[in-house]
Amino acid sequence: MPKILVTRRIPQPALDLLQTAFDEVVLHPHDRNISKAEILAQIPDCDALLCMLTNPVDREVLDAGVRLKVVSNYAVGYNNIDVDYATQKHIAVCNTPGVLTETTADLTWSLIMAACRRLVEGDKMMREQRFPGWEPMLLLGVDIYGKTLGIIGLGRIGEAVARRAAGFNMRILYYEVTGPRSDLTIIAEYVDLPTLFTEADIITLHTPLTTQTHHLIDESAFALMKPSAVVVNTARGPIIDETALVKALRERRIFAAGLDVYEHEPALAPGLADLPNVVLAPHIGSASIETRTRMALLAAQNAIAVIRGETPPASVNRY
Ligand code: NAP
Repeated sequence: MPKILVTRRIPQPALDLLQTAFDEVVLHPHDRNISKAEILAQIPDCDALLCMLTNPVDREVLDAGVRLKVVSNYAVGYNNIDVDYATQKHIAVCNTPGVLTETTADLTWSLIMAACRRLVEGDKMMREQRFPGWEPMLLLGVDIYGKTLGIIGLGRIGEAVARRAAGFNMRILYYEVTGPRSDLTIIAEYVDLPTLFTEADIITLHTPLTTQTHHLIDESAFALMKPSAVVVNTARGPIIDETALVKALRERRIFAAGLDVYEHEPALAPGLADLPNVVLAPHIGSASIETRTRMALLAAQNAIAVIRGETPPASVNRY
């Protein structure tokens, strides 16, 4: 009698789908991030776990899940899960790639434009009734059109961001740890990281969070950037050393930043929220009605496939 724990309410079509395949779908009654203790209390008699990126699925959780066959993450990134240990235990780890690519690329561009053109500062000025009327030097930003875009991690989302840059007539530089890509459908130059930091006007991050990408953007990276550079992160917070970012923004080492993700979510580094030259979004990269529904359905399909002994549409390990 398969049973699944869904750690937080997700769009209804996915819950309906799960009901067709599981005898019991346990949905936590409170719509909040449930604690690890609450997961540990429920997991021992569950065959499947459908979890959020805010749920750490570590050794303790995997060991407690004595019947667990699949951990289906409601996200493409899976840095919250100990995948190696899950693999050792023959537990499938699944994610939701592809269905959120364009939506996250759209939000990346929202942050690029808002940060470059100081939109949030302007909005605040209007609401606080401080708009003095048109002024020749009011809220001067930096141009996007014709500039150089530096993409770190030219995967699904990075490439979708690059495609949108065509309308802005941009030169595109990219860096990947594995070297130049042979299958590009866009025109982009492969460069090493120092070259990207030095030459790009807008730097956007699209790598997974791994031990290699943790603090990839640190004080030494900011030191190489142009004073007019804009840094955007819709990947994962710890890829940027947030304390170093606060310093770089405060000292105007760079022009601005746009963030959707934070090093210690939901907390912000001291001083970050006080800075005018940063646009702060609350981790809403994939948050459209259509995309969250697609993600939920894919997460449900992944869990159901594993339980039925079929190949799931999107798994990240060979279990
Ligand atoms: P993807 O297709 O796997 O792309 C990631 C890219 O990063 C790949 O090209 C990968 O290269 C590259 N990469 C890996 N390690 C690297 C390193 N050390 N240095 C430079 N490049 C490296 O993944 P995606 O679907 O585009 O998603 C990317 C990330 O975005 C996810 O992992 C997730 O954390 C984040 N995300 C955030 C939101 C949000 O709500 N803000 C939404 C969706 C996704 P290889 O293929 O050669 O490894």
